[in-house]
Amino acid sequence: MNIYLDHGATTPCDKAVVDKMLPFMTDVFGNADSLHSFGRQSAKAVSQARQDIAAVLNCQPNEVYFTASGTEADNWALKGAALMRKKQGKGNRVIISAIEHHAILTAAEWLKKQGFEVIKLPVNDKGIVEIASLEQVITDDTAVVSVMYANNEVGTIQPIRELCKIAHKHGALFHTDCVQAVPYLKLDVKDLGVDMLSISAHKFYGPKGVGALYIKNGVRIEKLLHGGEQERAQRGGTTNTAGVVGMAEALKLCVANMDKNNKHIAKLRDHFESRVLKEIEFVRQNGDRQNRIPSVANFSFEFVEGEGILMLLDFSGIAVSSGSACASGSLDPSHVLLSMGVPIEIAHGSIRFSFGKNNTMEQADYAADKLVEIIARLRQMSPLFNLKKGEVHNV
Ligand code: PLP
Repeated sequence: MNIYLDHGATTPCDKAVVDKMLPFMTDVFGNADSLHSFGRQSAKAVSQARQDIAAVLNCQPNEVYFTASGTEADNWALKGAALMRKKQGKGNRVIISAIEHHAILTAAEWLKKQGFEVIKLPVNDKGIVEIASLEQVITDDTAVVSVMYANNEVGTIQPIRELCKIAHKHGALFHTDCVQAVPYLKLDVKDLGVDMLSISAHKFYGPKGVGALYIKNGVRIEKLLHGGEQERAQRGGTTNTAGVVGMAEALKLCVANMDKNNKHIAKLRDHFESRVLKEIEFVRQNGDRQNRIPSVANFSFEFVEGEGILMLLDFSGIAVSSGSACASGSLDPSHVLLSMGVPIEIAHGSIRFSFGKNNTMEQADYAADKLVEIIARLRQMSPLFNLKKGEVHNV
């Protein structure tokens, strides 16, 4: 059995989305900026996609800027806002949360090298930014605050509306990374109050290599990509017509089926979680039980390494992530778990299971069965575990 439980890393593209995209790779291939009929046909589709996305975000179509990824949207928002604000003499401080994705974390590090003061907001042991922590560090020379809506590793939902109000009280711009939020949470930019918001299609059953940044009308940020006049001269590069058409279709499908999918996914996740907690000892559940997206279950298994678990699950046909998928390849423990106060040796034994709409209860049970076996097998080989159980007294 092949079971994909890594929807936080990426999702399969919906067949309906692919069908919608295909004509724009073959018959309707014109450059959306060309003046001839081939170009006009593509431009019409791009314009419709922009309108559809704007309708979901509750903004104007000219507030939606297409990018090549969530990473690009995040980089553009943070660097673009900070650089523009500095140019306007409006601030040198950049505030992000300690549990941001690397797209924001490393963009902030880059800004630090350019002379900005970067402050990271701590999170509590559930992985949630405390509102008071922003109040303590924000000053009137803060250029931009960026806090993600839903975290990619533990799934916690952040108090964006409240944080955004504080940022605005001090004249700072507010950006939120909604890359992990999209299939599960309603995104209304007016309700959230944000100035900028990033999304990425491959996280919500759309194609890879296409994302968008919402920039509120009236907010000016520096451009990062210099080139043609695309995206109202703010982001050069030939428009990925098929990509944006696919992203709009995927977004519409997500919104139309959100309640149904959320219920289904949460049911599988909760069943899996309760089995893990009942059938495996020395396990720690990471994240908030209430305030979280329905897909993610993150556990730390004591006395074993996350990579060992991941590999043995993979041999059994089950795909998961250890730490952050986006930083896989790195054996460093997750910065998210460390920020939540998970001890480093326990953080090393962490796995993120992220369920999706196409998973079944049978798959959730199979994954739980295999996990129970694998943890027992790995612990048999762990001197520390045997010591703890009192079975080995001298190591
Ligand atoms: N932000 C978050 C929260 C993510 O989870 C990811 C990807 O994992 C990104 C940004 C980057 O998005 P992309 O893969 O489209 O570059």
